[in-house]
Amino acid sequence: MASTPLDLVLVSTPIGYLGSGRGGGVELTITSLLRGLGQRGHHMHLVAPEGSRLPEGCEQVHLHPVAGEDQPSWQHADPDGPVLIPSQGVLPKLWERALDLASTADAVLNFGYDWLPLWLTPRQHQPIFHLVSMGSVARVIDALLLDLARWDQRRLAFHSRRQADDFGLPNPPVVVGNGFDLSRYALQVQTGGPLGWAGRVAPEKGLEDAVSVAARLGEPLLVWGLVEDPAYAARVEAAAPAGTIQWRGFLPTTALQKELGGCRALINTPKWNEAYGNVVVEALACGVPVIAYDRGGPGELVQHGVTGWLVPPDDCDGLLAAVQQLDAIDRNACRHWVECHASQAIFAERVERWISRGLAPGDGSISTCP
Ligand code: UDP
Repeated sequence: MASTPLDLVLVSTPIGYLGSGRGGGVELTITSLLRGLGQRGHHMHLVAPEGSRLPEGCEQVHLHPVAGEDQPSWQHADPDGPVLIPSQGVLPKLWERALDLASTADAVLNFGYDWLPLWLTPRQHQPIFHLVSMGSVARVIDALLLDLARWDQRRLAFHSRRQADDFGLPNPPVVVGNGFDLSRYALQVQTGGPLGWAGRVAPEKGLEDAVSVAARLGEPLLVWGLVEDPAYAARVEAAAPAGTIQWRGFLPTTALQKELGGCRALINTPKWNEAYGNVVVEALACGVPVIAYDRGGPGELVQHGVTGWLVPPDDCDGLLAAVQQLDAIDRNACRHWVECHASQAIFAERVERWISRGLAPGDGSISTCP
């Protein structure tokens, strides 16, 4: 339990309702915090796009659904492009509601990677905190994030060091990782299953490299996740021998972990500076070793030779060699790492500490606009 329970307003991503899968890993992060912070006695409001449902076990949270059009995703925008907000966009509406609620809350916690909430932060008296969900993808966000960090970096937290490194911050970053409700993931100790891959099916996730490894081994690759870019998915499938990809769809966590847990390894092949890599930890939680590119969050999550193998980025031969060394990995060690470093309780505690420190006056760094 926290020594002082906080009243918090959590603002969801403006891309997809909670449960749609369109918000990617952010959806799981929010779910984990609703549960974890709730267990620590904090009171929460969740402002989220219409259609969102409260996750199981979060019935005490007040949900505020907001209608409006999705924001375009920054990771698929021109890096030098402008800020776009649709005329009926959900983003300003989310913030209108959040700021109303904030007047009686201790803090607002933002999960959306977007311009508006960052811009608002130094211009509001209510303290707004940002758990930044991606690395650098657009200059206009980079610049604003840096301005905010120079004003009061305590308002920012990141999932991994490599993600934070993208932004050239003035001070060492607050890194909170991510958290998983381990009661929802079962350790499976058997070996010899198929190879798996999980994530949004989009170019930055590099599915083609994992497929090429499976094809060279003459094996199928089980693929879970939302097909965000159908044209890309079709191209990857067409380039591999028929039947290599076994599309398993986007599954809820219970079903995903059951199927994923049967794999002999998860292959994780990001082409971008992945902020964290939820699917890496979800696989480990089931006892599945991970073979990942040493890039972004996965490069900090996988313990080379203990919970899997790290391979130089874009090295498909390296992936193949690692698949042949899976016998050296103890599946119990994979689960153990998650229990020690990425449980829901540990994550909630880190986030609580971050916010409490950010709210504390006394070091002269709190400032508000005149
Ligand atoms: N996911 C899921 N069902 C699936 C495949 C993926 O719920 O069938 C979720 C997974 O649990 C993870 C998210 O999709 O939380 C992907 O997050 P990740 O951090 O790996 O990448 P992102 O999409 O945020 O870039």
